[in-house]
Amino acid sequence: MSLFVVVAGSLFAITAVPYLAFLGLHAWLQPSGSPANKQEWEPPVSVILPTYNEETIIRMKIDDLLGIDYPMEKIELVVIDSSTDNTRKIIREYFANIDDPDLVLLEEDDRSGVASAINRAMEAVSSEIVFRTDCDSKLGSDVLREAVANLSDERVGAVTGQQTDVLGESQVEQDYRDIIARIQTLESHLDSTFICHGPCFAFRQSSFQAIKSDSLADDSEIGVNVRRGGGRVVMDPSLRFVESGVSGFSQRRTRKDRRAMGLVQLLVRNRDILGGFGQYGQIVLPFNWWFMIVSPWLSVLTAVAATAAAVSLLDIAGIVVLLALVAFFWLGQRDTLGPVQPLYAVVDSQVSLLIAQLRLVMSDATGIWDVDRESRKVFK
Ligand code: GDP
Ligand code: MN
Repeated sequence: MSLFVVVAGSLFAITAVPYLAFLGLHAWLQPSGSPANKQEWEPPVSVILPTYNEETIIRMKIDDLLGIDYPMEKIELVVIDSSTDNTRKIIREYFANIDDPDLVLLEEDDRSGVASAINRAMEAVSSEIVFRTDCDSKLGSDVLREAVANLSDERVGAVTGQQTDVLGESQVEQDYRDIIARIQTLESHLDSTFICHGPCFAFRQSSFQAIKSDSLADDSEIGVNVRRGGGRVVMDPSLRFVESGVSGFSQRRTRKDRRAMGLVQLLVRNRDILGGFGQYGQIVLPFNWWFMIVSPWLSVLTAVAATAAAVSLLDIAGIVVLLALVAFFWLGQRDTLGPVQPLYAVVDSQVSLLIAQLRLVMSDATGIWDVDRESRKVFK
């Protein structure tokens, strides 16, 4: 057997082991739902919404928020807006004749990114319970009731939700979300989850720490800080939200790669807590390090070694491995891989994580990004 075959086989096995271990742990523990001791509760809630040039969808977003099943007199909506379009005007007009919820509209003349917008909004909130959301998302109507029920458990410092549907009918995004939800349910039951979803995320004001202004993942950064402060961070699938998503390879890159950059940046900045903080530092963070930082490189090495192995065995015909890989990408991004389609979602995320690492090494992240305008169209 050629050396290449041994190398390719070993690399493949090493890449697969942590995934299999994780699947095994999932099968053994069979986690489901939220691990919190949920109680009915109806405290005042401050809802935070950062906005940047959202004139096309801001009405939809406010309609959606006001349709939530919760006493509106207990809600305060804190909008932090750095738009140069009509977003502000539309919000003011919308609330001109509305008593509840209370509106706090913070205006920024210069756009400074979501992280610093959230920091500013947090200085203005008046309730202990804060719910952070995004313009380009819709929420389940019971989302606040479910969120506060989780936070009624004092061990829980933050709770995020599950994206149930993908607007825009992307199978890749849907598969990715389903896989993430499984991972997050297991993480939540072990201790705490690492990723927090900006469109649907609640936490206590008292456990909030200011976010770094160049952060590309303000939501997950809030979560890590909550866990550092001793609170648990859980994902509860009963908190439902929808966002848009596409499958096409190049259309996916901008937003996915930037989100991946945020997560990698956050892991690296918090490397000091690896191993500490119970199973969060012992299992959850190492798994995320492995999935987001190590596995993308191992996957590339495996693909290169597999091609070399095939060429060493079959000469030029061995190039078929490379062609098969190209075909896998081509069909995957068109949602036409049939039974192995979910695998493509993992591979697609590994591509984003690889690009993210390269971009983080080569450039400085500023915390300001191009908003994905295409993703707004499905909301109109
Ligand atoms: P993504 O969902 O990760 O792609 O992030 P988005 O581009 O959708 O941004 C999340 C939310 O923050 C949206 O409601 C945006 O309108 C808003 N946003 C984006 N950039 C800025 C900014 O620089 N300042 C403020 N105040 N809001 C922003
Ligand atoms: Mn968004």
